[in-house]
Amino acid sequence: MDVGRVNTIFKLWFWVLLAPLMLMGCQVEHPAYNTRFMAFGTLVDLSIIGVDRDSAQEAARALEQDFAFMHQAWHAWDPGPLGRVNRLIAKGEDFSVPPSVLPLIRLGKLYAEQSGGLFNPAIGRLINLWGFHTDAPEYRPPPPPEAIRTLLKSSPDMADLELDGIMLRSTNLEVQLDFGGFGKGYGIDLAIAHLREMGIHNAIINAGGDLRAIGDRGGRPWRIAIRRPSGGVLAIIEVSGDESVFTSGDYERNFVYEGKTYHHIIDPRTGYPAQGSRSLTVLHTDAATADAAATALYVAGPNDWITVALAMGIKYVLLMDDTGTIHMTPAMARRVEFMDQEPDIKLSEPL
Ligand code: AMP
Ligand code: MG
Repeated sequence: MDVGRVNTIFKLWFWVLLAPLMLMGCQVEHPAYNTRFMAFGTLVDLSIIGVDRDSAQEAARALEQDFAFMHQAWHAWDPGPLGRVNRLIAKGEDFSVPPSVLPLIRLGKLYAEQSGGLFNPAIGRLINLWGFHTDAPEYRPPPPPEAIRTLLKSSPDMADLELDGIMLRSTNLEVQLDFGGFGKGYGIDLAIAHLREMGIHNAIINAGGDLRAIGDRGGRPWRIAIRRPSGGVLAIIEVSGDESVFTSGDYERNFVYEGKTYHHIIDPRTGYPAQGSRSLTVLHTDAATADAAATALYVAGPNDWITVALAMGIKYVLLMDDTGTIHMTPAMARRVEFMDQEPDIKLSEPL
C-alpha cells in the first residue's frame, strides 16, 4: 500500500472516529461542580459550571465564609453590627453606621417607600413580639392584642431614620431593624458579584428555593421549581442570563395555636400575619429586589399586588391566593409551565 493511501485512510478515521470523541472530551472537561452548605439558617445549593474543580472548590469555600460573615453582621438581635445599630437607635443618639449595615439601611428605605410601607424593615419589635426572629418558632399563643396595638401606635417607619452620610439618628425610638425580608437576597447578590470576580460566569446560588442564576448550564437554561404551598412542585420556570427567583409563603415559618396557623409575614397595617395569599413568587434581575418584592407583594395580597409591583418595577409575578387561584402578570404566564392540570388563573391587566 502506498504511503499516500495510508495517509488518506488515517485522516478519514481521524475525522470519523477520533475527532468527535476528542470534541466530546473537551465538553466534559469541566463537569458541573455542585456543593451545599448552611447559611442564613437554610441549606444553600451552589452549582458552578465551566471552571476546573479546584477553582470551583475555592469559590465555594469563599462563598461559605462570605455567608457566615453576613449572617453574623445582619442578625437583628444577636450581638454584632446590626444588633449594635438596634441598641443605639433605642438610645436616640447620633452614631456612625457600620459599613456592613449601611447598604441594607439605604435599600430598606427605598423598598419601604416604593411599597407604601407594606414592606417595612423597621417593625423589628413586632417581629420579635411574634417570635419570628428565631429560626424555629414554637407552639405558643399569639401575642396579646393589647401588645400588638401598643407597637402599632408607635408606627415605626424607615423614614424615621435620618441618614447624613454614614451618621444615623432615629426620630422614633421604637424603630428596630429586621432585614429578614431581603437580607438573604442582598447576600446572594454580593455572593454572585464575588463569583464573577473569581472568573465564574455560569452558576446558581439556591438558598432554600430562593435563588439567583447567572449564565447557563452548558448552553441550556436552568430549570427552577416553584413550590406548591401544600407540598410538591406547582410549576417550572426556565431562567438564564442573569435572573433571580424568590418566593414568600405562609409555609416557610409558622406555628399553630388552637388549630390556627400564624405565619411570619406581618402586615404592618394590622400587626398580624398578612391575609389573602398562600405564596408569592417574583422573578427579577437582582436578588435583593426580588426578595423584598416577594414579601411586599405577599402583604399587598390578591387585591393590591399589581399596584405595588408597578411601584417596585416588577414585571414577573405569580401569586397563589387562599382559594388556590393563581394570579399572574401576562409576562410570567408566558414563562411558567404548570406541573399537573392548569389551576384557575387570573391575569393582571396593566403589566
Ligand atoms: P420573606 O421570607 O423573604 O418573605 O421574609 C420574611 C421575614 O421578613 C420575616 O421572618 C421577618 O423577619 C421579615 N418581615 C415580616 N414581615 C415583614 C414586612 N411587612 N416587611 C418587611 N419585613 C418583614
Ligand atoms: Mg423576601
